[in-house]
Amino acid sequence: MKVVTHPDFSSTDYADDCASVAGRMEIILEALKVEGPWAFVLPEAATDADLRRGHTPAYLASLVGNPKLHALASLAAGGAIRAAELAMEGEPAFAVVRPPGHHASRHAGWGYCVYSNVALALLKLRASGAITSALVVDIDAHTGDGTIDVLSDWPGAHILNPYAEDRRAYLALLEQALKALPPMDIVAVSAGFDAYLEDVGRKLDTMDFFMIGRALRQYCRRSGHERRFAVLEGGYYLPALGRNVASFCRGFA
Ligand SMILES: [Zn+2]
Repeated sequence: MKVVTHPDFSSTDYADDCASVAGRMEIILEALKVEGPWAFVLPEAATDADLRRGHTPAYLASLVGNPKLHALASLAAGGAIRAAELAMEGEPAFAVVRPPGHHASRHAGWGYCVYSNVALALLKLRASGAITSALVVDIDAHTGDGTIDVLSDWPGAHILNPYAEDRRAYLALLEQALKALPPMDIVAVSAGFDAYLEDVGRKLDTMDFFMIGRALRQYCRRSGHERRFAVLEGGYYLPALGRNVASFCRGFA
């Protein structure tokens, strides 16, 4: 597995929200260095053409007045794109990026999200002819409404936002859903960790993230390939964030 990230994601002055707090990226990267060893890969910023595949000209124009946010969000989308490209080479990848993307629709961003990172990466692969189908599994505590919106014109995109009252039901529901699905060309994960017991979602424990990662790896194996990547979304309880990401990656790698 490879970790896609960039030193610029450690900057905190692009926004003032829960995703941009100091130390959040560093905690994750430190945990992944210990969990690995996985090679770290630098992304390039998404191009205007990449962004236009998922967002309206009016929305993109609205960000021109905020160059710092646009630059970092473009790099975050580029991180998702790089992770997706690695996945296509058969190398699972995890992109540690911010701002997150799953609440960014074609027309607007909210919930700390600017560009629809996962959706833009998949649309780029689709445009190149590399894939015709994709499974998106969003494990963030919040529904990835932006991803749903951006991919809504693509019948080959299947999006899961598992929801259950408790952790046992959640894991069973995910397993069931994955078993019922046909093979897809690639698996993309909106990897939010705010469903953790001490975070806003108050549901999953550290080992559950391993179980989720492993279930996704097994789904890929049943599909006959290793094409999977994950992109960081939420996750705000810093004392456990590093070990939760590492636990997911242990199962996913
Ligand atoms: Zn969330």
